[in-house]
Amino acid sequence: MRGILIVGDGMADQPLQELNFKTPIEAANPQAMNRLACRGVLGLLDPIAPSVVPSSDTANLALLGYNSDFVYEGRGPFEASGAGLQLKEGDVAFRCNFVTVDENLCLVDERAGRVGGVDAKVLGKVVEQIELKDNSDVELYFKQTLGFKAALVLRGDGLSSKVYRALPNVGDSVVSILPLDGSFEARRTAGVLNEFVQLSNQVLDVHPVNVERKVVNRRPANAVLPWSGGVKPDVSSFQGKYSLRASCVAAVSLIKGIGRLSGMDVPDVLGATGERDTDTLAKADAVLAAFREGKDFVYVHIEAADEASHDGDVEGKIAVIKKIDMLVDRILSSVDLSDTVIALMPDHATSCMTMRHLCDAVPVCFAGANVISDNVTVYSERSAYKGGLSHISGKDIMPMMLNYMGRT
Ligand SMILES: [Zn+2]
Repeated sequence: MRGILIVGDGMADQPLQELNFKTPIEAANPQAMNRLACRGVLGLLDPIAPSVVPSSDTANLALLGYNSDFVYEGRGPFEASGAGLQLKEGDVAFRCNFVTVDENLCLVDERAGRVGGVDAKVLGKVVEQIELKDNSDVELYFKQTLGFKAALVLRGDGLSSKVYRALPNVGDSVVSILPLDGSFEARRTAGVLNEFVQLSNQVLDVHPVNVERKVVNRRPANAVLPWSGGVKPDVSSFQGKYSLRASCVAAVSLIKGIGRLSGMDVPDVLGATGERDTDTLAKADAVLAAFREGKDFVYVHIEAADEASHDGDVEGKIAVIKKIDMLVDRILSSVDLSDTVIALMPDHATSCMTMRHLCDAVPVCFAGANVISDNVTVYSERSAYKGGLSHISGKDIMPMMLNYMGRT
């Protein structure tokens, strides 16, 4: 049997007043997801544990059963690997944001007015050319990925991942990356990063793209901030762990990196953008192509519902859920549930109201020939309370998937 794990990032939510106290999933009324619910069993999923607000990195790792396999430092190595940057022993990798800073190098906007498209591509190329002066023995490998997102790898002797890992607050200085311990390596790495941030501001602030953005009242992407750093984690191979030949169909670097570092095949899907304009049917076709190529498991991740939630864009979130429903529809109408197990879930809930992740349990659905269906006929946060699976956690997903695939 084959398996498909469909993850709609941040798709679940709480009831919203403007939707007459429906959730965005309920408002979208997704017909294919409801058909899946009719054929399968629903339940409530705590991605990490009850009351824990998950981040996408730890939540997706938990869904794949990688919650406690290795020392997790940060998302940097996954972002870098997903961006196509090589990671060697001794390297330290960071996720980066293009940001807007004021003339005192204090943070104004951690997403630089959601810089994207050609602007982000052009500015990314400019940052790729930066060479350190005070720390000229350290090599930089930088890549802009999607919109304001990018990745950075530091290569050189005596580097450390023990530097402060979060973005600064709005109003705070961005040249303030601190060592987390007293070691020479941590102090040196913090110095390298602060020099990189300063140099990025020097080349970006005067760049014609940003001069033009200021003229038309858009926020300039005038600095790059590294965060969530780490060394290459010792991720065990997915195939070795589960005896499944797996493919990872995703747009965002974080998820592609999880796929690459666990040894999955990670195709580049044309039209998969990680944004609201993403082509979910192209992703469905990539799932079907992976099976034709002999894979027996596909992990497919759709980012855009989380993006819409972080912008408080309720209509956008509903539209994305309808697009994810199109993916479910194409998969459901192309595979046979007698030889395929389909699991559908968000990696966590994200609130359109607070624009932040939530710790609510999210709806999970399994369907397949070996699944005893319950009486739930709707896929939603509310209907999951009545589901036959009751309450499970992220680490249960892969064991249950293997169980339904007849591979215990
Ligand atoms: Zn997420």
